[in-house]
Amino acid sequence: MTGIHRLARDATQPAVGRDVEAWCSKCGRVLEHIIVAMVGLEVVQVRCRTCAGTHKYKTAREVAKASAEPKRERAPKSTKTRAAAAPKEDPIEIRAARLVWQRSMAQLDRAKATGYAPTLHPEPGLLLDHATFGFGIVESVGIGKARVLFENGYKLLAVGR
Ligand SMILES: [Zn+2]
Repeated sequence: MTGIHRLARDATQPAVGRDVEAWCSKCGRVLEHIIVAMVGLEVVQVRCRTCAGTHKYKTAREVAKASAEPKRERAPKSTKTRAAAAPKEDPIEIRAARLVWQRSMAQLDRAKATGYAPTLHPEPGLLLDHATFGFGIVESVGIGKARVLFENGYKLLAVGR
């Protein structure tokens, strides 16, 4: 018993009832605290010698880190909120496709567009005029299908039927 007691007193490690420097949020500074509770070798709860308040053990460094972190987190959060409030933007694939469509359309004569029908046998590069999707440029042709670039993205259309 005595041996254990002496060992605990001699140890440089913190122990319940010992003093420790800790951050007191009530006093707003680092002060002497009495260790109230420990988990293993970790101080978890302390009592401030100045205000007698019992609270979680925090070092000044942890407090500085904690106060710096929310600032970093807040920025992306508010951007997210703003983005959610803003009108929905088209996905990047659609915006990219639209850019290609606009460039291609600038070089094509809309008056020469071929009206779309599933019976068509189009060649890649053909300008189509679709009743629903508008003008589209045939990108590739497969068996019974053609991939066509419209203003709102790529669509697969039935062809050669
Ligand atoms: Zn205090």
